[in-house]
Amino acid sequence: MLSNSLSTLAPDALKQLQAELDGELFVPGDEGFEAAHRGWNLAFRHTPALVVKAMSASDVADAVRFARENHLGIAVQGTGHGPGRAADGALLINMSDMNHAFVDAESRTAWVEGGAKWKAVLEKSAPLGLAPLLGSSPYVGVTGYTLGGGMGWLARKYGMAIDAVNWFDVVTPEGHLLRASANEHAELFWALRGGGAGNLGVVVAMEINLYPETDVYGGNLLYPGSMAREVLVKFREWVKDHPENLTAAVSIMHYPPMPQVPDFLRGQSFVQIRGLYAGPAVEGQVYIQEWLDWREPVVNMWRPMPFAEIATVSNDPEEPMPGKVSGAWLRELNDEAIDTILRFMFGQDGPPPVMFTEIRHAGGAVARAAKTATAYSSRDAQFLLGMGGLAPTPEIFDLVAGYQAEFKAALGSALAAPYLNFTEGHERREATHHAFSPENLRRLQAVKAQYDAENRFDYGFDVKPAK
Ligand SMILES: Cc1cc2nc3c(=O)[nH]c(=O)nc-3n(C[C@H](O)[C@H](O)[C@H](O)COP(=O)(O)OP(=O)(O)OC[C@H]3O[C@@H](n4cnc5c(N)ncnc54)[C@H](O)[C@@H]3O)c2cc1C
Repeated sequence: MLSNSLSTLAPDALKQLQAELDGELFVPGDEGFEAAHRGWNLAFRHTPALVVKAMSASDVADAVRFARENHLGIAVQGTGHGPGRAADGALLINMSDMNHAFVDAESRTAWVEGGAKWKAVLEKSAPLGLAPLLGSSPYVGVTGYTLGGGMGWLARKYGMAIDAVNWFDVVTPEGHLLRASANEHAELFWALRGGGAGNLGVVVAMEINLYPETDVYGGNLLYPGSMAREVLVKFREWVKDHPENLTAAVSIMHYPPMPQVPDFLRGQSFVQIRGLYAGPAVEGQVYIQEWLDWREPVVNMWRPMPFAEIATVSNDPEEPMPGKVSGAWLRELNDEAIDTILRFMFGQDGPPPVMFTEIRHAGGAVARAAKTATAYSSRDAQFLLGMGGLAPTPEIFDLVAGYQAEFKAALGSALAAPYLNFTEGHERREATHHAFSPENLRRLQAVKAQYDAENRFDYGFDVKPAK
């Protein structure tokens, strides 16, 4: 049994742990305790027994050993964009001070610390003409994003973030530091790629490949929400013969009537064609011209841009906020799926609890790797569905979560496996059981049994050790 109470921890043991650490330790009542465990998504609260803000791999190992000796569960937080189970009564290792990244231009790789955000990599790689496989927001953590798969605007050209990892340095649940790569601890390396968020140890650093992208063509086309059906149908046809250089999405957005939202969007609904053409702008323009020739948009924001400005494609919120996202892979975007999407996004009086729905085109390099190459196995779905809503109170959180569950259930057979990166909290735990092929889930459970038979890391993906 894991202990749930700080009262069982001797003050001397805590003092000794603090003396060993380069970073800081916080217990309830300490000034800074709250800030030390509050993550980006403010809808999720933790009540950990203690928090270690790690500064080094040895801090992480000390914290893991301390938790073992004191029968505590161990939770890991990078940025708090994708929480699993609340870290109640656990030792929470906050990685946000281990936030460095270094780029080696010659080998086109980046060494990334376990708590770094994509922004740290992008700032180092872009001046060298290199791009990482980040997602829509540079403020998301590299490690958490990668451990769940990682699908961004270069996915169809180069694959998922997991396809770009050369190795992980991991502090195991036993408190040992080891390297997992194709040649060392290969099963752990396999499992971490798509199956390892917070459940197989702590990634303290990783090496990822970078790609030669400097000038790209990206942005958004906005059509009125009233055109959603025809835009969705056209999008489905439009992407059919796309080159892999183009990763695009269609989004339905109900912009809230908030002062932070630009005037022309505030309180309005739009259907948007967004994405990135990773190649010369003149080539990319051909694909957008098809839309301009079809119907005049309200605004065309596609433009040639440096890859460093990739965040402007989605303009995700940077500051912490309370929200609930959900998502899953779609086998296809058939007429019934389009009807369902329209019903859930427009079938209400006024805006629905889900503020946005986005359907990203997958395939290309995402689908090239074998389903067994990594723990992550949803390689063949055509589209990735994401949805989200604001959740300022627990009641609204439940409302949004319930609506998302109904929405997904109504998609029926169009829906494929869950995408764990687009799940949170209880939904993420539950979705773990359905996110992998049966073969990959069995293999993942065997790796879990090898490295964490006691299931001490039980706050991220819910993978139970094989018996
Ligand atoms: C605004 C926004 C935009 C997004 N865009 C995309 C996108 O384009 N594509 C996409 O695929 N996903 C996207 N996501 C989803 C995102 O990838 C997940 O939420 C991911 O889990 C976030 O990782 P994190 O480290 O930032 O968050 P955290 O909440 O800190 O961590 C997420 C999970 O990873 C574990 N973890 C974190 N660091 C470590 C570590 N060092 N060692 C072991 N486990 C660790 C945590 O325990 C937790 O279970 C987005 C999310 C948001 C909120």
